[in-house]
Amino acid sequence: MQFIDLAKQQSLIKNSLDKRIQAVLAHGKYIMGPEVMEMEAQLAEYVGVKYCVSCSSGTDALLMPLMAWGVGPGDAVFTTPFTFIATAEVIQLLGATPVFVDIDPKTFNIDSVLLDAAINKVVAEGVLKPRVIIPVDLFGLPADYAAIEAIGKKYDIKILEDAAQGFGGQIGDRLAGSFGDVAGTSFFPAKPLGCYGDGGAIFTNDEDMYEKLVSIRVHGKGNDKYDNVRIGINGRMDTLQAAVILEKFTLFPEEVKLRNAAADKYNALLTGSVVTPEVPKGYISSWAQYSILARDATDRSVLQAKLKAADIPSAVYYPKPLHQQTAFAHLPYKDGDFPVSEAMSQRIFSLPMHPYIEDEDIEKVCAVLKG
Ligand SMILES: *Cc1c(COP(=O)(O)O)cnc(C)c1O
Repeated sequence: MQFIDLAKQQSLIKNSLDKRIQAVLAHGKYIMGPEVMEMEAQLAEYVGVKYCVSCSSGTDALLMPLMAWGVGPGDAVFTTPFTFIATAEVIQLLGATPVFVDIDPKTFNIDSVLLDAAINKVVAEGVLKPRVIIPVDLFGLPADYAAIEAIGKKYDIKILEDAAQGFGGQIGDRLAGSFGDVAGTSFFPAKPLGCYGDGGAIFTNDEDMYEKLVSIRVHGKGNDKYDNVRIGINGRMDTLQAAVILEKFTLFPEEVKLRNAAADKYNALLTGSVVTPEVPKGYISSWAQYSILARDATDRSVLQAKLKAADIPSAVYYPKPLHQQTAFAHLPYKDGDFPVSEAMSQRIFSLPMHPYIEDEDIEKVCAVLKG
């Protein structure tokens, strides 16, 4: 059994994918070729925003909007410690200060009550300037944007949605990628919509942001790439990867439904034996991961060992919250500061999840866990 089965997906689009790739080899526009613009137009329409700017990775999709806002030393950027390192790494790269806020134990996403309190505290201390909130749509579930967008307004600070795992998720009729002021997603192969290498995209309705992103993506270009009006990066996504996304995107809306059916099946079989993931009313997850909670770290080791003995892969996202990472040892945090994230990191683990997982496989995983 595979944790994520990309080969099955490829077999469904093999012919059209080969044609797409051959078309790029024939026209030879490997950088910023027509497939890049075609993909951006399709994805912007799907998400329901004016602009999509593709870029080299999900990490750059977070870095570039922060650069466009001029985030830097003296600025506070609020985010969750229960995420992949990239979310907070980009804050530190720009010399700004990550301010961590604990998560809700049911959704694993940033706790909006604690977020308000954390911003209030930074304002009261008067040392750092609150600039941006980066909520993460962890495991595919959008964060609590009704509350977070209100907090953004209250303190007049920006919101950058980390939709690296959330692409395809929804709250009501709003799609992930449309929350806050700007959103970044990742096309790393294992994400809900992945390419065959690195890639990412940024979504926004803000025209000024769009223009800055287009410039930052190509070394801060002005009129052309030899006219440089700001410091940027080489942040382009290459044409071959855009061609891959164009074909994989034809399957994507259906794949989100298939992932939801798989999650429903897991939930039905596992409820009562482990803590299964909760999706709040009106939300749709894109199930980047299907993650459950064991009773404690020992119980988790036992369950993961049982799965391993049955040749079933499982994974822990995330074994160490970011405030406990060596890379952030300079920040004024200690063990115990984020009790929910710390407890979850001891108990959580993820099961095989992809659109093409067979019912029998789900049944087997659940039987092993309950056995
Ligand atoms: C994967 C991921 C990223 C980074 O994406 P890359 O394409 O690997 O750079 C950022 N944030 C979260 C939450 C992620 O899961």
